[in-house]
Amino acid sequence: MPSNTDFLLAIEDLTVSFDGFKAVDDLTLYVDKGELRVIIGPNGAGKTTVLDLISGKTKSSAGSIRYNNKEITKMREHEIVRLGIGRKFQTPSIYDKLTVFENLEISYPQGRSINGSLGFKRTDKVVKRILEVAEEIFLIDLLDLEAELLSHGQKQWLEIGMLLVQDPELVMLDEPVAGMTAKERDETAILLKKMAKERSVIIIEHDMDFVAKIADRVTVLHLGKILKEGTMEEVQSDPTVKEVYLGH
Ligand code: ADP
Ligand code: MG
Repeated sequence: MPSNTDFLLAIEDLTVSFDGFKAVDDLTLYVDKGELRVIIGPNGAGKTTVLDLISGKTKSSAGSIRYNNKEITKMREHEIVRLGIGRKFQTPSIYDKLTVFENLEISYPQGRSINGSLGFKRTDKVVKRILEVAEEIFLIDLLDLEAELLSHGQKQWLEIGMLLVQDPELVMLDEPVAGMTAKERDETAILLKKMAKERSVIIIEHDMDFVAKIADRVTVLHLGKILKEGTMEEVQSDPTVKEVYLGH
């Protein structure tokens, strides 16, 4: 048994092979409570696969992932969600025909099912939480709008909101600002920094200007391994990082 850790997330010696190809190769990565960590790296570096492993979507070939000192490596996806790990994929998956409010409502734990099952009470507590989150994701004035009418950026925010109503302790976002306008990116930076005050956040991002705005620490992944870890300045001034990533 590994010794106890104060880290929220402790990934040690993690490897996954796809037909002999190691997409993640002996990776060790620690995330603190309350940290906002950005993972960058060229296409195919293994970034999304790391999130797949943490969320239980992909099972590792070797190594361990501990969350609050609990071994989650072999747990199923819904069990991992229940422990407080929320994950947003690259493409938004919201319910187009439901309103902003309803999308947030069905994401509430023990909330209404997609078919609107009876028995679910729209209690004051639920409504209060939905309004708090809607405010945070800049959609408080659009609660009654059908989700399909939102802009691309607003849809991304809504999906982040659908995670936030569940109050996860760790949120993982895969390229959240892809396709957003410059203004939406700035607003998203504010949103993410605010989010990270109450929880840990792991973000995969390509846009370096955006990373510079939000990151405490940056991890550069390359060929399934950590190439460099540090502040944005440290990472950007590293010659190897420049060579494999920032150069182009
Ligand atoms: P990134 O997100 O950094 O661009 P990915 O984690 O998506 O990279 O992919 C890393 C490598 O692993 C790529 O070469 C990709 O083709 C491969 N890969 C990812 N998932 C699978 C899978 N389920 N089966 C086979 N190969 C995969
Ligand atoms: Mg990816």
